[in-house]
Amino acid sequence: MPPLSRSVHEEMSKRLNAAREDLLGAVRARTTADEGDAPSIGPLAHEAQGDDRNTAEMIGHDEVHLAEHDANTLHEIDVALGKLEAGGAGICESCGREIPDARLLATPTVRTCTECQDRIEKETHTGRGPSM
Ligand SMILES: [Zn+2]
Repeated sequence: MPPLSRSVHEEMSKRLNAAREDLLGAVRARTTADEGDAPSIGPLAHEAQGDDRNTAEMIGHDEVHLAEHDANTLHEIDVALGKLEAGGAGICESCGREIPDARLLATPTVRTCTECQDRIEKETHTGRGPSM
């Protein structure tokens, strides 16, 4: 038997697809705005004449960082949607137990139960996480 009830499955699917649309819309809006000739990047923008290259590099770095974050979020959403379709959603990837419906609905991209997430976060904070 699949662990998810049909209603939870449908609700997660709806939320994941909505989150996906939001994210793609935000990326698209930012990409379109960047094509304008007066980007409102903040106080640094009007100092650009002084040292174009450094400022441009800083702005570029910020945008790359945002794009990576968006790409990661999009990946999480796609993974969650894939699991919904394949029937693996709602099962903790770490211990194999069922994830409570409320947790799934609050954060449809979760992959682990609360206990495992706590443990993983502690491990990450003690230096076993990805290097900066
Ligand atoms: Zn678990």
